Amino acid sequence: MDPKSQRVKLNDGHFIPVLGFGTYAPEEVPKSEALEATKFAIEVGFRHVDSAHLYQNEEQVGQAIRSKIADGTVKREDIFYTSKLWCNSLQPELVRPALEKSLQNLQLDHVDLYIIHSPVSLKPGNKFVPKDESGKLIFDSVDLCHTWEALEKCKDAGLTKSIGVSNFNHKQLEKILNKPGLKYKPVCNQVECHPYLNQSKLLEFCKSHDIVLVAYAALGAQLLSEWVNSNNPILLEDPVLCAIAKKHKQTPALVALRYQVQRGVVVLAKSFNKKRIKENMQVFDFELTPEDMKAIDGLNRNIRYYDFQKGIGHPEYPFSEEY
Ligand code: NAP
Repeated sequence: MDPKSQRVKLNDGHFIPVLGFGTYAPEEVPKSEALEATKFAIEVGFRHVDSAHLYQNEEQVGQAIRSKIADGTVKREDIFYTSKLWCNSLQPELVRPALEKSLQNLQLDHVDLYIIHSPVSLKPGNKFVPKDESGKLIFDSVDLCHTWEALEKCKDAGLTKSIGVSNFNHKQLEKILNKPGLKYKPVCNQVECHPYLNQSKLLEFCKSHDIVLVAYAALGAQLLSEWVNSNNPILLEDPVLCAIAKKHKQTPALVALRYQVQRGVVVLAKSFNKKRIKENMQVFDFELTPEDMKAIDGLNRNIRYYDFQKGIGHPEYPFSEEY
């Protein structure tokens, strides 16, 4: 099967490839690895690339995309690129400058998808994670509907083809959907999603509103990241996933990715390792049975790797709601 044709139609008429390449890596990883890994990912067939201003690698990721266009591997329209609006720029007047900064770093004239990274607004300024003397995050307050209106303007200006959100719970999505004068619905909600946190209720909600759920940490997250709660069990060592993988002569990682594809979820996979980048493209080469899907559904246990505990106490902290 040609992975490039595996796309889902968004509610604004654009298409998103169901498998995306994640580019986030902890700060100590040299940014040059994002450049090499993204180039290789495009060479082996990835057409959807996910990054963010927060990851501080848009220069390298943009360079990778441009070099694969320049050498004739792809055309710009073959690539679906997502960037994200960080929490310190949720005030409406900061939205367009933030996207323009990403475009400048990328050296691209538009992104395909621009999403609000998280509903937890932080103090505007140069610091990604502004803290007071006691180490507590400095929160900011914004009406997310106003942030959304600024994203709508970015779409109208042609700086992004589509707009969406990330880490929103269903009440926050509802707030946007019910906004008087809404011009564009969010096309997606990008959230943590894997067999230990399968998001079945949020997925059902999103499907009922024609919003695509995009899964991050689908392989169980990067446990070395400062953002990750590493006290949690390692997903890819789960005995049920391992047994299903063995039965299909696949790896637990491929089973975790395939699980999402079969339930209508767009899935991101991060790897900076050539062998594993190539392996992850094989998600289209096999199928899980309904019994396999049911067994994986049974692994759900509300384990959240990226729990963003420091955001607890913010009125828009999203993870206190059931979904
Ligand atoms: P992930 O996709 O869950 O991957 C976790 C780890 O699995 C990677 O570090 C990778 O290590 C390893 N891996 C990859 N393929 C493998 C395979 N075939 N077999 C065994 N191990 C494999 O990681 P994630 O970075 O947490 O999430 C994916 C992407 O989602 C991010 O890169 C980012 O683009 C996005 N994201 C978004 C948010 C948000 O708030 N919106 C939050 C987190 C992440 P190696 O590199 O060593 O292969």
